[in-house]
Amino acid sequence: MRSPIPAYLEEVLNDTVDGGEVASYIPELARANPDRLSAALCMADGTIYGAGEVETRFSIQSISKPFVYALALQENGVQAVMERIGVEPSGETFNSASLDPKTQRPDNPMVNIGAIATHALVMPDGTCAERSEAVRRGLSAFAGRQLQIDQAVYSSEISTAFRNHSLAYLVRSVDGFEQDPREIVEGYTRQCSLLVDVRDLAVMAMTLANSGVNPVTKERVVHADVAQQVLSVLTTCGMYDATGDWMTQVGIPAKSGVGGGVIGALPGQVGAAVFSPRLDDVGNSVRGVQAFERFSKDMGMHLLKAPPLSKDVVRTATMRSTALGPVHAVELQGPLRFSSAERVMRRLEQVPHDNYGVALDLTRVSSADEVSRRMLLEAMRSLRNEGHRIYLVDPKGSVPDRDLGDGSLPLQAASLDTLDTPRNH
Ligand code: GLU
Repeated sequence: MRSPIPAYLEEVLNDTVDGGEVASYIPELARANPDRLSAALCMADGTIYGAGEVETRFSIQSISKPFVYALALQENGVQAVMERIGVEPSGETFNSASLDPKTQRPDNPMVNIGAIATHALVMPDGTCAERSEAVRRGLSAFAGRQLQIDQAVYSSEISTAFRNHSLAYLVRSVDGFEQDPREIVEGYTRQCSLLVDVRDLAVMAMTLANSGVNPVTKERVVHADVAQQVLSVLTTCGMYDATGDWMTQVGIPAKSGVGGGVIGALPGQVGAAVFSPRLDDVGNSVRGVQAFERFSKDMGMHLLKAPPLSKDVVRTATMRSTALGPVHAVELQGPLRFSSAERVMRRLEQVPHDNYGVALDLTRVSSADEVSRRMLLEAMRSLRNEGHRIYLVDPKGSVPDRDLGDGSLPLQAASLDTLDTPRNH
């Protein structure tokens, strides 16, 4: 069978209708071929699907901002970065000269003034060249490929970067960073000039959506907490002044850049990227926005779409007779998280105080998050304290640490049929 996904991507691209204008305030961008069009998806196991002119490279521009924010968070910690740069939507254009009147911080790291301050937090004690190289290496780790700077775009932008210099001097004037503002703009402009294609961007987005682990190289690029912080900011500030519209229509944490790229990162599911240089009034790629609207609708990708209810988590609950006496056997299935574990707790509450054994069979549990593991351990502890022998059938190790709180472990059995021959007894 041939996967329908590449053909679907082609169809979505073909259905988009172009409009708008390429960005012209950076002279080199005005020379870009406006008809280029490509899209890519990257899945959690590193599988990549592409459509259109996937080989075409373009400058990353503002799409670099979330990744450099991630590097700054990783290096300095969330608290230290928050002291310098906020996380509130600014409600102003991307290059406005505004600082929070009370805190004197840039509103967020996605507007230029915040991104410039963020750049300064990578290798703060290094030279301009060292900082640029750290950013290039960091973004390359997100992409799983060594990225290079487009010198023509860099020269073109730096020669006209009067506005960004004024923003850097403004942040410097309130001690938002300690370095020479000219060096920070130089490094920030290099960061924006890194060349990427849509596949790079899809992998970078999936790395954020994959809790900071690059799905292709398997390298942990940033902590899971950092990835979550970045996605949170993208949810409220990623699409210039259209982020509210975007979140209601598309519902995927996203970032766009004036080069015509757009990325979307749907946690745990997919990283997506589209490239088409013509931009709408707020600066988002016209065809990029349309393609993402389709992805969201066709593939049910809205972040706030409620996941299916986990009502069948208790597969069976039966009495079993074993050589050691009767046992209440409860077989669980599917993903365990707070809401499904709560159902398990309610079922276990019904176990009578009869001193019979209680067996939990997790063979069919597909995943168990931290809170559900703690809830299961708490339930087993409580049942044990009521006088029940506790058996656990857990061949996949869904509950890795089985300590019931006092150094004792539940009895391990290979299956519900072999409860009378527990493995650790
Ligand atoms: N390098 C661009 C600038 O600072 C990036 C802007 C963008 O993509 O929004 O003006």
